[in-house]
Amino acid sequence: MATMRAVQVARPGGPLELVERNIPEPAAGAVRVKVQACGVCHSDSVTKEGLFPNITYPRVPGHEIIGILDALGPDVRGWSTGQRVGVGWHGGNCGYCDACRRGDAFACETETLVTGVTSDGGYADYMIAPATALARVPADLDAVEAAPLMCAGITTFNALRNSGARPSEVVAVLGLGGLGHLGVQFAAKLGFKTVAIARGQDKEPLARQLGAHHYIDSRAHDAAAALRELGGAKVVLATVTSGSAMTAVLGGLAPGGTLMIIGVTEPLTIDPVPLILGRKSVSGWYSGTSIDSQETLAFSALSGVRPMTETFPLERAADAYDRMMSGEARFRVVLTTGN
Ligand SMILES: [Zn+2]
Ligand SMILES: [Zn+2]
Repeated sequence: MATMRAVQVARPGGPLELVERNIPEPAAGAVRVKVQACGVCHSDSVTKEGLFPNITYPRVPGHEIIGILDALGPDVRGWSTGQRVGVGWHGGNCGYCDACRRGDAFACETETLVTGVTSDGGYADYMIAPATALARVPADLDAVEAAPLMCAGITTFNALRNSGARPSEVVAVLGLGGLGHLGVQFAAKLGFKTVAIARGQDKEPLARQLGAHHYIDSRAHDAAAALRELGGAKVVLATVTSGSAMTAVLGGLAPGGTLMIIGVTEPLTIDPVPLILGRKSVSGWYSGTSIDSQETLAFSALSGVRPMTETFPLERAADAYDRMMSGEARFRVVLTTGN
């Protein structure tokens, strides 16, 4: 039997270890993807540390996958081998539960399918995915550029395009890391008056380079007051992991404005009075489904949005993971297989 390289976690909290495995065969409704690149995301710690219920081990992490369709299982329609595809966090959906029938595939009720968590992901030469998890990849996006768009990209793009903000309105992106550096680019390309908020004046050139029209140094200035001076933000996209940084910008929302949270944080304490008087809201946004991924890739190819990446070969996945967890990476870490 032909074998492949895979990087697995054998137990919760265990190390990432390079192993040889048999190349898997796709079951009905599923496909095999020959992985070219896989982004290393902070959410891979869910698998590494066992932070999700009922993960079975050993498990291969990775949910920012770009590759080539290599084999189709029985009953797969609409796809053919040789196509370039992406697989993200959304690991497929049933199509028949109430949520799926309402068009809310992200909330599929039958089971929670998460790539690299409930099934083996992209830290490998090959991986298996349900056909419902596949996104088409435009020819002019290379695999390393496209991989982070499958999680960091879709999360920021899909939140912004569903935020209710319209072109020319003020949209602020709080944080300028792996999510934020994409969020600023998407906000500018979507036609919003784009404000980047980060700590320190030294980040302003980067923010401007990414397309921000305004920059607020939240260390030196009251970010809420600075947003009010710009007329108030229709949307603040919060990509940071600090709850206090999120609540500090609430006063900068315009009437009817929304604080949209995509960064996982500790519980927030929020004064309801300004929410009531200004009809403001606080909401969260989940990344999206396979068609949202596909549209993120298509928009990025069209508009020139690209992640900044550091690449590591698959064998060095443990180093790549440590680099990502250190918070020092600029800005997304991507594994390459050479396939
Ligand atoms: Zn992710
Ligand atoms: Zn369903």
